[in-house]
Amino acid sequence: ILDGRTALVTGSTSGIGLGIALLYAQAGAKVMLNGLGRPEDIARARREVGAAMGVDEAPFSDADLSRGEAVAGMVRAAEAALGSVDILVNNAGIQHVAPIDEFPEAKWDAIIAINFTSNFHAIKAALPGMKKRNWGRIINVASAHGLVASPYKAAYVSAKHAVVGLTKTVALEIARTPVTCNAICPGFVRTPLAEAQVKPLAEKHGVSEEQALTDYLLEKQPSKRWVEVEDVARMALYLAGPGSGAVNGAALSIDGGWLAA
Ligand code: NAD
Repeated sequence: ILDGRTALVTGSTSGIGLGIALLYAQAGAKVMLNGLGRPEDIARARREVGAAMGVDEAPFSDADLSRGEAVAGMVRAAEAALGSVDILVNNAGIQHVAPIDEFPEAKWDAIIAINFTSNFHAIKAALPGMKKRNWGRIINVASAHGLVASPYKAAYVSAKHAVVGLTKTVALEIARTPVTCNAICPGFVRTPLAEAQVKPLAEKHGVSEEQALTDYLLEKQPSKRWVEVEDVARMALYLAGPGSGAVNGAALSIDGGWLAA
């Protein structure tokens, strides 16, 4: 259903972004990957997504999204490599957990820059081309923490709320065009970013990792189960595909019931 479409997915060398890039490629899109990490992991992601596109390697940008000029450069590189950016998925993100009176300034700055400000730079760079071609989809991977808070995640919760605010603002500005802008708000998804939080919780509370997962990490997720990467990727495919043109400015939860509580 994405035949002939092009997509740039940020933070797609791992986790949710890789899942979205792969599903888009399987649906017929040409996809550019982006992310940091170990060269062998990046090479594997490029081969995996490339295979779904019928090429050896998917195009890739190593842009560090904590830098605004790098974000704009990544969008230009994607337009050059793919011919256009029809679908922009702002997905890259990091986490740091600490009480606010101990929260490191450098972590605050990095989380705001990568999880939030990069979305502004990427949208600003990609939107003119979408308007010109009369079609576009902007999908921001926010979080349940874009809609509600948890303690010790001041930067992450602030950045994700800001992403939801940016999503609504952009949606209003483009409401009369064939471009849409929406946010996906996942609960805890089984990825390296979330799995890394289980062990410290087990140590802190002196319980097994299994118990730390259900009693502490998934405390607020009524399903007591991880959301899977594929669940999020399918919602991203729906938003990018035909039939979602009237969905604009939405913050769509996919969280095992978290926001219902
Ligand atoms: P992940 O750690 O598996 O992947 C993060 C990706 O972002 C990687 O590809 C990494 O290389 C990239 N990245 C990090 N810093 C970067 C930088 N400076 N420049 C470019 N790329 C960078 O994490 P994930 O769980 O897949 O998270 C993806 C998104 O989903 C994030 O925005 C995260 O906040 C959001 N999210 C995750 C969960 C969850 O439970 N896993 C829940 C809600 C929202």
